Amino acid sequence: MVAMKDAPERQVAERVFEVAAGVFRIPLPTGYKVGDANVYVIGGPDIALVDAGVRSDDALGRIESALASIGRAIADVKTMLLTHGHVDHAGSARAIRERSGCEIRLHPRGHRRTADPAAAFQADMPRFLAFLGRSGFSERTIETFRQAFMGFLKSTEPCPDLLPAADGDVLTVAGGRRVEVVETPGHSADCVVYRLADAGVVFTGDTVLPHITSNPTLERASPDDPAHRPLVAYRASLRRVAALPDSIACPGHGRPFTGLAGRCEEILAHQAERCDRVVSILRESGPMTRKDLAIALFGKVPAWEIYLTLSEVQAAVGFLEVEGRIRVVADRDVDRVEAV
Ligand SMILES: [Zn+2]
Repeated sequence: MVAMKDAPERQVAERVFEVAAGVFRIPLPTGYKVGDANVYVIGGPDIALVDAGVRSDDALGRIESALASIGRAIADVKTMLLTHGHVDHAGSARAIRERSGCEIRLHPRGHRRTADPAAAFQADMPRFLAFLGRSGFSERTIETFRQAFMGFLKSTEPCPDLLPAADGDVLTVAGGRRVEVVETPGHSADCVVYRLADAGVVFTGDTVLPHITSNPTLERASPDDPAHRPLVAYRASLRRVAALPDSIACPGHGRPFTGLAGRCEEILAHQAERCDRVVSILRESGPMTRKDLAIALFGKVPAWEIYLTLSEVQAAVGFLEVEGRIRVVADRDVDRVEAV
């Protein structure tokens, strides 16, 4: 397996890099712990953007001046390809459409949330807070968490009238460049990667990052999705990406890299190790709540980081249940996870 390596980029201006023929990367600050998020430009008679960064005047200004440095303007954007609906990738989509009239593509599983984030949050919240309770968290922690989570809404705004980017679609952008859509649910239900074959490039969003293993998040495509098992989906998605023709990977965070298939295998191995650890912790300690499992795996974290650690735990639990290695037993108000 070929190991991952940074792909060469040509810097054309401050925070503007040419990755491949007519493909540019613009790293934008997000204000989140993850650091910069990448917006990519696909050039031609008009341009397409892959992702849009957070919703802020700073981000928009940076996109504007980065485009100016390659002789372009926001008004030239005809297509916006979103890798998924998270606020650090889709936050400025609507603002860019208002200035360009571009069409916006997103996998249909993300439309409800991105079209009206506040309504989707409100609709999903009761079930989610109940899940936190059944996972063993106190009322106080749950309330702190709720407030922190609602804070995400400031980084985005409703973006209705989305067009689909569905599995197998071949979209023509930037005056004739063909982009294939491969759906890759797992990190979120609406994740896709875009393959621009003429440049030998795959835009991997958060599905494959060079230095971080993205968490399979807890959010659901619809509030009543009973079989939500993000890690099962994520592992299938990584295998699909690994099977794509060899390409330069253009991730949502960090630098472009080669050895995409090798990186997918690394992430798969890392996920499998974590699942093995969950089973061995349960074998040693006996049945545990999801909260205690999260603490055993990651230590104590502030309330606003619970989402990350709990999503890792729940992803492993969902996967291991399917594998028949653990089970979840309801014990009055809380669930306990035990090794089989
Ligand atoms: Zn994301």
